[in-house]
Amino acid sequence: MAWTFTVLGGGQEIGANSYLLSLSGVPLLLDAGLHPKKFGLESLPDYDRIERELEAIFITHAHLDHVGSLPIINHRHPQAPIFATLPTKDIALRMLHNTVTVMNIFREEKGLTEYPFFGHEDLWPLEGEIMGLDYKIAPSSSARGKQIYSDQLHLRGGIQARFLPAGHVLGAGGILFRQGRRFLFYTGDISLQAQVLIPGAILPDEKIDTLILECTYGNDPAYYSQNRQKEIESFGREAHSILSAGGCVLIPAFALGKTQELLCIIYQLMRTEKIPSVPLFISGLGKSITEIYQDHRRYLRPQASILSFDLFSVLGYLDDLSIQALLKEPCIIVATNGMMVENTPSARIARWMVPEERHGIFFCGYVDPDTLGYRVFHARPGEALSFSPKGDPVTIHNLNIRRFYLSSHADRYELLEVARRIKPRNIVLIHGEREGMEFMKGELEGEFQVWIGERGKTITLD
Ligand SMILES: [Zn+2]
Ligand SMILES: [Zn+2]
Repeated sequence: MAWTFTVLGGGQEIGANSYLLSLSGVPLLLDAGLHPKKFGLESLPDYDRIERELEAIFITHAHLDHVGSLPIINHRHPQAPIFATLPTKDIALRMLHNTVTVMNIFREEKGLTEYPFFGHEDLWPLEGEIMGLDYKIAPSSSARGKQIYSDQLHLRGGIQARFLPAGHVLGAGGILFRQGRRFLFYTGDISLQAQVLIPGAILPDEKIDTLILECTYGNDPAYYSQNRQKEIESFGREAHSILSAGGCVLIPAFALGKTQELLCIIYQLMRTEKIPSVPLFISGLGKSITEIYQDHRRYLRPQASILSFDLFSVLGYLDDLSIQALLKEPCIIVATNGMMVENTPSARIARWMVPEERHGIFFCGYVDPDTLGYRVFHARPGEALSFSPKGDPVTIHNLNIRRFYLSSHADRYELLEVARRIKPRNIVLIHGEREGMEFMKGELEGEFQVWIGERGKTITLD
């Protein structure tokens, strides 16, 4: 019988990732995200397209664009078991509790009466319902000798599934499905290169028929993964000159992944006196996730330095006065959200930094062209930008708005390498900007049968 793949959200965009995979009539859900830039019902995947009871739900990692609507689909399909790695389970629950708080704020501020989609009480049962899987070392026929897999899951229709480490953030896993002799591999978000804390992805040895490949950096021509050490050095040099001249450095960063990598990088730079030892602030959510990183230390690179909680303080309530007080003395602030979405701490702090030349703002991850972060990064001195829906425009005088490539995703060349190492017959491209996916398709067509995933469309995989 046929295998089909339907995009419910996150096809040609960094959206609410969710995909319906049907293996000979057995429906499985891959990820259950929320759109990072949309609000209310618009931010949800198109779950109405699921016509039959789901057999199982798989979550690749705990970024909200992959897990933010899990309680909704769990409510609609309570019989379907939910599978994730152990760290993803812990982080996802923490992220979802934070989402309840954010939705309550938006209900007030934006008058969105459909919020909150779920309450804290809806999350307690998920503690028992998400099955957290551990990785184990298994013998392998590959030249590398050993591979790390989660336990093999056995589902209806003779389907087997297991997770493989995907790099990216703590707990991130690609998923390998097998039915009979056919294999499908879904990368989730992936990075082949190791980061400071997270080891690189492991690819399956099996002969894969279909590869579902993320394309976050498909539209960016730079070779990020090769230049990480150089980027860390120039980050250190720039931060040093701003801090020693009395300025502050703001790094907009997601609470999961980027915050912990940056804590580790900043700690190393301070320890080796490449930057002065100034106060370091992070968000409360960043701290909670860092605690989970501590709990699952054995998933991190063995040589990774363990993060010390004495090193940083947690940002308090951020009204205009407290932000101005915070910015009086040199400090480093790692604040959510990474793309500086309006009203998030990074946007509120940046609003007070852009008028002054002494400060610096360093972007270190993916910044969507549709976000405030993108507009701030590309603004010319003298240009005025609005930092919140109700606030007056602020004129940018700051010249130290920089970007450092410390990505937790494969760059476009590494994505092509993933495809060429796996050598599948079929490739479905998802989770990227349309132009980037067209570039990827152009590169891979001829070698493989390539589709670009599109919301609402079903692809039949032979
Ligand atoms: Zn991610
Ligand atoms: Zn993602």
